[in-house]
Amino acid sequence: MNFPVEKFKNIETPFYYYDTELLRQTLDTIVKAAEENGGYCVHYAVKANANPKVLAIIAKAGLGADCVSGNEVEAALNAGFPAEKIVFAGVAKKDKEILLGIDSNIFCFNCESIEELEIIQQLAHSRAKTANVAFRINPDVGAHTHANITTGLAENKFGIPMQDMEKVIMLADNMPNIKFIGLHFHIGSQILEMDDFKALALRINELQDRLNKQGIFVENINLGGGLGIDYNDPDKNPIPDFRLMFKTYNSLLKLREGQKLHFEPGRSVVGQMGSLITSTIFVKQGTHKKFCIVDAGMTDLIRPALYDAYHKIENISNPDGKTTTYDIVGPICESSDVFQKDYPMNETRRGDIIAIRSAGAYGEIMASRYNCRNLPKGYTTEDLI
Ligand SMILES: *Cc1c(COP(=O)(O)O)cnc(C)c1O
Repeated sequence: MNFPVEKFKNIETPFYYYDTELLRQTLDTIVKAAEENGGYCVHYAVKANANPKVLAIIAKAGLGADCVSGNEVEAALNAGFPAEKIVFAGVAKKDKEILLGIDSNIFCFNCESIEELEIIQQLAHSRAKTANVAFRINPDVGAHTHANITTGLAENKFGIPMQDMEKVIMLADNMPNIKFIGLHFHIGSQILEMDDFKALALRINELQDRLNKQGIFVENINLGGGLGIDYNDPDKNPIPDFRLMFKTYNSLLKLREGQKLHFEPGRSVVGQMGSLITSTIFVKQGTHKKFCIVDAGMTDLIRPALYDAYHKIENISNPDGKTTTYDIVGPICESSDVFQKDYPMNETRRGDIIAIRSAGAYGEIMASRYNCRNLPKGYTTEDLI
């Protein structure tokens, strides 16, 4: 990635930098790949990055939005996503959030329990409206990813158990203000093995056979998100292989006549276009290690502390410096406030600008004010012109 390093020198670090050209190329790839494979509906998972400027670009490309809170529904509407392309998921929604969805005429609630279904019915009735509902089914399919980001196993809190599927559909059919419109799945995040998606496709085929035998037809199948990105080499693989994921499903899923497929990618849409830009405060010589202490910390980007996540780190203001090994750490009072240990990087001096790559997803949005720190700002390419 070509960073406008000179421009960065005039902005207070740390901040997020969003390369909107890469974002637009990524969106273009998604839209084309979705068309080639039969017109899939793609809803961007807002939770990955809800920066208003980023959301507006995604809305303009024609994607829908996948929201997991009332505030996300509001953010999506404000950014220009049409209500009829908004799906509202989440393991438990409060009454106020459900009412917002009903009043805004969103496309669909992805419902995860009978308890919630009954409340959606009551609230829709109180507004004299019909709410579209898809059931999130827990397919008991594992994903080869970090244990904290698998969601489709029977032991996870998400979704309705497969054995209850018919029961909830029958219940919904008997509710006057509920329209059952589909099934929803989401097995985890940062998935790079197509075998995980294959396993989900085969499980869905089984479930559909089961339903069809009982005369139940499903209009929409929502396959969730989960496609991973290349954290190791963001320059070699800036755009994830959406075509491969779509093709994998296309070749295996036995879709019924008129059925629509939906996806909810988050990380894969915005991950690579974002970098956390920080600067070196001190280079400190420890007993055994050299510490590069930067002004960004786990309050700005929590993924390394939370998931042991790897992010490539570059010293972009001293590209010719000789390679030196550092522990790259933040200033927060926590031992887990470490971005990388024993990491080779071009020699850094006080004031150098450091880019922490592939931070567009689950970065800015997960920032906190711990230690009374300021929240990081997000700047797009256009902001810096
Ligand atoms: C988080 C989430 C997504 C997006 O996941 P990514 O791995 O970022 O693509 C999609 N759908 C649901 C229901 C989610 O919870």
